[in-house]
Amino acid sequence: MSPANDQVDERLGELHARHLGLGAGDVASYYSSARGSYPPQEAGSERDRFAISFAHVDGDVHPVGDFERLFLLQSISKVFAYALALADLGRDEVLSRVGVEPSGEAFNAIAFDEHTHTPFNPMVNSGAIVTSTLVRGADADEKLERILNVVRSLAANPTIDVDEEAARDELAISDHNRAVAYLMRSEGMLEGDVEENLRLYLRQCSIRLDVRDLSMLAATLANGCVCPLSGERVLPVSVVRDVLSVMHTCGMYDAAGQWAFDVGLPAKSGVSGGVMAVVPGKGGIGVWSPGLDSHGNSVRGVNVCREISERLGLHLLAAETEDAFVGAAAPRE
Ligand code: GLU
Repeated sequence: MSPANDQVDERLGELHARHLGLGAGDVASYYSSARGSYPPQEAGSERDRFAISFAHVDGDVHPVGDFERLFLLQSISKVFAYALALADLGRDEVLSRVGVEPSGEAFNAIAFDEHTHTPFNPMVNSGAIVTSTLVRGADADEKLERILNVVRSLAANPTIDVDEEAARDELAISDHNRAVAYLMRSEGMLEGDVEENLRLYLRQCSIRLDVRDLSMLAATLANGCVCPLSGERVLPVSVVRDVLSVMHTCGMYDAAGQWAFDVGLPAKSGVSGGVMAVVPGKGGIGVWSPGLDSHGNSVRGVNVCREISERLGLHLLAAETEDAFVGAAAPRE
């Protein structure tokens, strides 16, 4: 391993140890205030888990903490369904069905863009439910299979799979999403069988992986959709700009503005505690820690990404860039 890689491991280890020190009580109270009883399968024993991984566009992956634990992609899956829908149908067609405006509302809000008569964007539930149905496929199973295969290829991990039990559990308590879906169908925004569409969306949310996979997904996006590990071009480069733009403006629930201000990287979080941030041209950051803040974002995930961005000067709109992860200048202390 090169000295630069040693240095990355050391810094990530130090970062992990320091943020682990954030009291479990803090994490727990954020968690319970965020979502009430939901989602049940992640609320208990996994609450204090914590893993970070950085994947470089040259294929090096640097994981620390609970990096072998599997968790659900949840909302992060919306990114990949959107990318595939764009690849399948093209920007204009997708845009005519799902907008790109930040809603400023909670992820599951029953709110639509009055001007365009579409869901606000593909990162809120309403938009994501529509987006999944846009993916090509004879039926929901085939659409799901194609989304899953894109995730597997982007992460270069064919073992990634759907946690069917988690999907079934969530389907049983998904009346809110069900209501949103029925409303959209009555308004002509969604076509087809609502129950089937909902199952597709929740199975997509239940794709299970570890933090190394999460960082590699981000690194592949950072690398223009060519997977650094396999060398495979998974999706056309044309989707990258659209996907990262929407992540940048809408990826962190109703804290997307604060995130863009503080961290300045396209990112997406999920209610299972995952945060995936893309450093275009350089690599991908994955953090998993299920304690959530009141916006539904992982407390440690946000803090870790903010610190990495600040210390390494990764904010995309900042004038100067320094990046120890890519072997350039030393980080600011
Ligand atoms: N399966 C979740 C739901 O819709 C995803 C939510 C999330 O991660 O924000 O409702």
